[in-house]
Amino acid sequence: DRVVSGAADGDDQAVEAALRPKDLGEFVGQERVREQLDLVLRAARGRGATADHVLLSGAPGLGKTTLSMIIAAEMGAPIRITSGPAIQHAGDLAAILSSLTEGEVLFLDEIHRMSRPAEEMLYMAMEDFRVDVVVGKGPGATAIPLELPPFTLVGATTRAGLLPPPLRDRFGFTGHMEFYSPDELQRVINRSARLLDVDIAADGAAEIAGRSRGTPRIANRLLRRVRDYAQVKADGVITGQVAAQALEVYEVDGRGLDRLDRAVLTALLKLFGGGPVGLSTLAVAVGEERETVEEVAEPFLVREGLLARTPRGRVATPAAWSHLGMVPPQQVTG
Ligand code: ADP
Repeated sequence: DRVVSGAADGDDQAVEAALRPKDLGEFVGQERVREQLDLVLRAARGRGATADHVLLSGAPGLGKTTLSMIIAAEMGAPIRITSGPAIQHAGDLAAILSSLTEGEVLFLDEIHRMSRPAEEMLYMAMEDFRVDVVVGKGPGATAIPLELPPFTLVGATTRAGLLPPPLRDRFGFTGHMEFYSPDELQRVINRSARLLDVDIAADGAAEIAGRSRGTPRIANRLLRRVRDYAQVKADGVITGQVAAQALEVYEVDGRGLDRLDRAVLTALLKLFGGGPVGLSTLAVAVGEERETVEEVAEPFLVREGLLARTPRGRVATPAAWSHLGMVPPQQVTG
């Protein structure tokens, strides 16, 4: 439930449906993926064929689900949405696959979290549009082959490297989604503001973009929180100043760090002189679990160049000191 989390929360779902770009032209940024995908889809349409399987990798909130819906729309095909964790047994997957219609897009989010037997069934389905459904158990078990209509699998994963190579190799196209630049996020925010009928000034959009961690989902979420603030505390118009004041209330600072991120950095600087300090020690100092510090706070701090993970422990960079307005202790030399 962090306001700066890239993962969707319950609050996001309804609004996100309304804010999703409907075609490649509306989809902001990701120029390379967009261009390559455009070619793949046009070529398939030209041949009157089903598009190749597509793998999309990238952090949560960068637009993988949105792109899969766009793929279906551009192919004039229906889409089915499911996820790796929802497929526990090969039978679950067989049920989904056997109910697909010709050309349908199957979006499989978190595909790296599928069970092993389901994964193996998927290999054959992707390659030969066929599955073997095993009926019965033990020596009497028989495999009944089942033909599938051609379909397009769109798999999404946080990192393509998490996939076993045989699965990765079965995708005709892999798109790596990058974090968005502040300019691109500003375009996302302006577009969403228009759809939500919110009055926003250029410096307001820029202020929100700078705090959105390169992630459209976070940008859209912050926009909604700032809109509430503008409505209650200002005249409804989001200026740079209003956005900054609003995000201060939500404890998101000028670079998009939240309270946890700042607590980790502050402990590192104030208690450990900038490190190196071990992860466990740092976690105890901020009163959090090791995993929370490592998986929730650190990735963004590392990406922002504020913290480095070294073999001797966590170290603050010069940028961390200046971000928190502190001066590093004098190095003792000689
Ligand atoms: P993911 O599947 O990668 O977690 P989503 O596709 O669900 O991300 O996108 C999250 C939200 O961000 C959606 O509401 C969508 O409208 C918005 N969004 C993502 N990418 C873009 C983009 N390139 N342009 C405009 N809006 C975007």
